[in-house]
Amino acid sequence: MPKPVIIDENICEGCGICYAVFGCPAIGRQPNGQAFIHTDLCNGNGSCIQVCPVQAIVRPDPNDTEEDLVMKYTNKLKIQDRAGCGPSKVK
Ligand code: SF4
Repeated sequence: MPKPVIIDENICEGCGICYAVFGCPAIGRQPNGQAFIHTDLCNGNGSCIQVCPVQAIVRPDPNDTEEDLVMKYTNKLKIQDRAGCGPSKVK
């Protein structure tokens, strides 16, 4: 089975098309409106990739580690927050 897709938080605009219109149960809404993937529900078929108008739903490189995925796709300001050295973009 393919790996779950992932949301690129640096691109996602929180339009809601994927979780409110497309309606896959594996896609949820973060408090800030951005999408997230329930990795335990996603079967990785990628049918949602085409619904995102800004190409924020991506298929991860199978060679990427979990750390690679966080560094590539987590909002950079959130990463700074985790380190306690930056303002939050997320309200
Ligand atoms: S369709 Fe794309 S931009 Fe809109 S909420 Fe989903 S991932 Fe984000």
